Amino acid sequence: MFVCTGFATQGSNEPLGPFSFKRRDPGATDVQIEILYCGVCHSDLHQARNEWHNTVYPCLPGHEIIGRVTKTGADVTRCKPGDLAGVGCMVDSCRVCAACREGLEQYCEKGFNPTYNGVDKDLGGPTFGGYSTAIVVDETFVLRVSDKLDLAGVAPLLCAGITTYSPLRHWKVGRGQKAGIVGLGGLGHMGVKFAHAFGAHTVLFTTSAGKAKDGKRLGVDEVVISKNPGEMAAHANSFDFILDTVAGPHDVSRYLDLLKRDGTLVQVGAPEKPMAVEIFSLIFKRRNFAGSLIGGIAETQEMLDFCAEHNITADVEVIPVQKINEAYERMLRSDVKYRFSIDMRSLKQTA
Ligand code: NAP
Ligand code: ZN
Ligand code: ZN
Repeated sequence: MFVCTGFATQGSNEPLGPFSFKRRDPGATDVQIEILYCGVCHSDLHQARNEWHNTVYPCLPGHEIIGRVTKTGADVTRCKPGDLAGVGCMVDSCRVCAACREGLEQYCEKGFNPTYNGVDKDLGGPTFGGYSTAIVVDETFVLRVSDKLDLAGVAPLLCAGITTYSPLRHWKVGRGQKAGIVGLGGLGHMGVKFAHAFGAHTVLFTTSAGKAKDGKRLGVDEVVISKNPGEMAAHANSFDFILDTVAGPHDVSRYLDLLKRDGTLVQVGAPEKPMAVEIFSLIFKRRNFAGSLIGGIAETQEMLDFCAEHNITADVEVIPVQKINEAYERMLRSDVKYRFSIDMRSLKQTA
């Protein structure tokens, strides 16, 4: 075991603050990683504040991890000390169920072990995430990372990137199609970049008129200010696919009405409370309303390789970990362009 430091919260109404804890020494198939950057996902905030009603405290979030390998177990073949490495939302799964065998570990029938708020099978208690100095992960769940890209901007690919890449690929969104992305936050801005890169006519729906110009810069063909009913109505029955990344309560039926017959709306945003759906919006045009959860390890590697090849990273505001509570408040106000990425060297200064 060795001692790590990080930023954790002790309860749903408590701010995050400095926290010391232990990690296992790397076993035969484990990789020890010194964390360089960790992205700040809205899920971190939902979890830290127990908005999904399953948080175990202390809670140390962070699942958009980029770092450098410092140690490897005797049987590790995929990386070596000195390599860059990434860790996303999962650190383990059963590996034998149908989903795991298909490379869909996120849908593991036994439930995957999340990077934080999971079960630490070696030391007991919850797993602790990436707002910390180091992490130890089985090599199966460690991703290869190119050194060609800006690492602060690569970190958010491990969740925001794969969560938008995977449904766009699964529903085969591309050239000749009209795709909508709802919400220009961490997930949304990556959705825009991928939909554009895949060749779809890409439309951004935003509640923030001030983001329209950025949307265009990020690759959007049209921007709709969703608060304006006239702008929404102009797109009725016209979309092949819509990806909804909104983190809070909103009327999803307004977007279902914009789908063509047989079109699909995929919900990746995970609001705290159930939302009503206008069933007539579905049945009259045989529309589909679906969900999607992150992506498997193989697809995450494919996405990272695609990003390296096409020079795609997240647009980040780099912060020291001491600013995390302020960052959460700004994220709630949609005031982030478009992902916070924590520089973990800031942590060593307080340790
Ligand atoms: P984020 O950076 O806060 O972005 C969410 C965006 O949604 C905001 O920037 C805002 O965009 C819009 N928005 C927020 N509240 C709204 C409301 N009440 N009504 C209308 N629009 C609203 O969050 P994120 O990190 O991208 O995460 C988004 C959601 O996805 C979270 O719920 C998160 O937990 C979930 N998530 C799911 C998965 C998965 O596997 N399915 C993975 C990661 C995250 P505009 O200003 O442009 O309107
Ligand atoms: Zn996330
Ligand atoms: Zn499984």
